[in-house]
Amino acid sequence: MKIGFIGLGIMGRPMVGHLIAAGHDVFLHRVKEVSQELVTAGGIALDSAAAVASASEIVILMLPDTSDVEGVLFGKDGVASGLQDGALVIDMSSISPVETKVFAERITAQGADWVDAPVSGGEAGAKNAALTIMCGGTEAAFARAMPILEIMGKRITHIGPSGDGQVAKVCNQIIVGLTIEAVAEALFLAGKAGADPSRVREALLGGFADSTILKVHGERMIDEAFTPGFRINLHRKDMGLAVDAARALDVALPNTAMVHQLMGAAIGRGDGDLDHSAMIRNLQVLASG
Ligand code: NAD
Repeated sequence: MKIGFIGLGIMGRPMVGHLIAAGHDVFLHRVKEVSQELVTAGGIALDSAAAVASASEIVILMLPDTSDVEGVLFGKDGVASGLQDGALVIDMSSISPVETKVFAERITAQGADWVDAPVSGGEAGAKNAALTIMCGGTEAAFARAMPILEIMGKRITHIGPSGDGQVAKVCNQIIVGLTIEAVAEALFLAGKAGADPSRVREALLGGFADSTILKVHGERMIDEAFTPGFRINLHRKDMGLAVDAARALDVALPNTAMVHQLMGAAIGRGDGDLDHSAMIRNLQVLASG
């Protein structure tokens, strides 16, 4: 198929690699030095999002935030201005569920299909084509997207109408964010109490405290391996979406709000571009007061 892909970052690059390897014609926009290898592998660089859309039956977005998706879709020379009749737009970025519904309405009003399909699984999931993908959209649009999503992911779930994929992703980020804070506090306490944090982590694997976060991010915390991965800046954006949803629905998510604030403090100290496992550094700063 002819597939456009916009957003060639930590996640987008390996995802495009899988689409090219599967034999699809992949059209790219904003190919920087770091993504040149995708052109070498057969990707075709074009000079606007509109040009990508007019060359493609399916357009995939993997951009940082809501405003980026809005700009790429509806800005000057955006996807909407070049979209083929009957095309399918799949937004795999993690963005606002509320704005997603608006974007979906505008795209479907043009006669195209829409699926929001944010992911979990991180850079390793993208590299191993093992992403968990949470989808919103009509049954028909989801069925159309499925063969392409299967090239990049393993567990792919249709949750409900457009926006529901992003709701699921916000839920995912609440659990990941609060678990990162819990693992950071536990391992920090272990070290302060004089117990070897890496032995404590090993002891807990397999018990009720086990999780991917304890495995992967716990190890990163112990090794101080904070090259992203998933940047604190992006995770704070996701926790902000959860806080916004709580406000809109008049419900309390107290721990979500607290971790959102702690991520803000990490960003304020200059840690925003580090992996979110670097949240343990907040505790070190607080203790060294
Ligand atoms: P990233 O910052 O590494 O990549 C984003 C890319 O989008 C960059 O290459 C940037 O140049 C490009 N971009 C921005 N504006 C653009 C525009 N107007 N036109 C074309 N390209 C543009 O981010 P990432 O880590 O790859 O994350 C992408 C999305 O996936 C985010 O919404 C993030 O929350 C989500 N996500 C990330 C991870 C992770 O572990 N990194 C995991 C799950 C979900």
